[in-house]
Amino acid sequence: MQSLYIQNSLSRKKELFVPLNPPYVGMYVCGPTVYSNVHLGNVRTFLTFDIVYRYLTFLGYQVRYVRNITDVGHLTGDSEDGEDKIGKKARLENLEPMEIVQKYTNDFHDVTRVFNMISPSIEPSATGHIVEQIEMIQKILERGYGYESNGSVYFNVRKFSEDFPYGELSGRRIDDQLSNTRSLDGQDEKNDPLDFALWKKADTSHLMKWPSPWSEGFPGWHLECSVMSTKYLGTTFDIHGGGMDLKFPHHECEIAQNVGAHGGGSPVNYWMHGNMLTVNGRKMAKSEGNGFTPEELITGNHPLLERGYSAMTVRFFMLQGHYASTLDFSNDALQAAEKGLERLVTAMSKLADLPATASTEGSEADIPSLLDRCAQAMGDDFNTPILISVLFDAVKLINNVTSGKIAITSVQRQELKDGMEGYVFDVLGLKVEEKTRQDGGDTDALMGLLVELRGNAKTNKDWATADTIRDTLSQLGITIMDGKDGSTWKKD
Ligand code: AMP
Ligand code: ZN
Repeated sequence: MQSLYIQNSLSRKKELFVPLNPPYVGMYVCGPTVYSNVHLGNVRTFLTFDIVYRYLTFLGYQVRYVRNITDVGHLTGDSEDGEDKIGKKARLENLEPMEIVQKYTNDFHDVTRVFNMISPSIEPSATGHIVEQIEMIQKILERGYGYESNGSVYFNVRKFSEDFPYGELSGRRIDDQLSNTRSLDGQDEKNDPLDFALWKKADTSHLMKWPSPWSEGFPGWHLECSVMSTKYLGTTFDIHGGGMDLKFPHHECEIAQNVGAHGGGSPVNYWMHGNMLTVNGRKMAKSEGNGFTPEELITGNHPLLERGYSAMTVRFFMLQGHYASTLDFSNDALQAAEKGLERLVTAMSKLADLPATASTEGSEADIPSLLDRCAQAMGDDFNTPILISVLFDAVKLINNVTSGKIAITSVQRQELKDGMEGYVFDVLGLKVEEKTRQDGGDTDALMGLLVELRGNAKTNKDWATADTIRDTLSQLGITIMDGKDGSTWKKD
């Protein structure tokens, strides 16, 4: 099998991927907190792990891919206090918390479908695993790494760190953390500001609460992922993923909980973290007001967007960056991605009918080495930008065969077609979009022509023609937008 190297966030090294129990691979990815629409930043992280899942499957592994739904316990401000994000939304909208959960879970599923992400094998929810969470707290208490205080239960970080390493994943030293941690409101229940909640006693206004040996309350946010990963993948499993911002405290606490409950070494063999999508250098986030939804992106209906972009354009744009690097959103980059994807898809559509010759004497086409470069790129920590650059070399080859500059046999043609389809459709998960299939791209070409004719009319001060084109298109639901670099169009 083709070798695969993964950058492990825990060891901070690229390591050869060796599954615990080949051909099976267990992968857990932290899913969304379903209290609002997902934004494009969230999409980037889920896309990263869609690629990991796709490539492992492509290599022949049988992957059990678990991605949870966080539907309780994630508090506003991510601190130990505050209101439950879902409970708060339910209160504001006067709905049942489970109505909020259902609404935004449906939205999340719609988004993953639009972006052609493969569904996980198991999608467990935190509220569906309250019993298991109580059991895990009991194990942690039995082993002496937790304590009860006023109906809540906390993890004793200092005690744990005397027996096991704490802070390795995020590179934090426990003493530095102590000196940097100020006492926060309500933290007096804890023995130490470093401790985190395993179970919180609910006050009377709290909507989502369950009985437990300690109080009527709810689990701490970090606990659900420890419980669900262990339940479905075992106490040690292959890959755990999430966005970079989850390294601390979420994943650090997960490790402590797993080791605290079950003892022993690292629960996860390869920790992977996707980097952030930024806008003008700032992390895309709901709280920043710079997080548009996929729907806004596709319709172009957001002040940051010059126009709408298709889901596959966005997918391609994201894959042109390596998952471990930040990626800055810009209209220019999306427009370049749109052109690039079109070139790729157009070349792919020619593959089946490429002219073939009987012999390839003197031909420069070396398809095995081209496909080997694709495998090398993906085998080097899922390097999709390098893979895409190799695929553009393949586009050049296709164009040279079409124009007769390079000869290939029908066997080579098949080899190239199968190989490229594998990487473009199966590994990168790109698909030919509806619009392009229905009209073969004619709409784009015709619109380009109309925009050009209107531009010429304006240059010639023929305002009547320019206005007729704009108004007629407007009646057809197409808006022309004039910008300093020319005009663009969008469908309303
Ligand atoms: P949440 O619903 O807030 O728990 O986030 C779901 C996932 O999206 C987590 O893995 C986050 O790390 C990730 N995420 C949040 N913001 C961004 C961003 N700007 N870029 C990439 N991933 C993000
Ligand atoms: Zn998680």
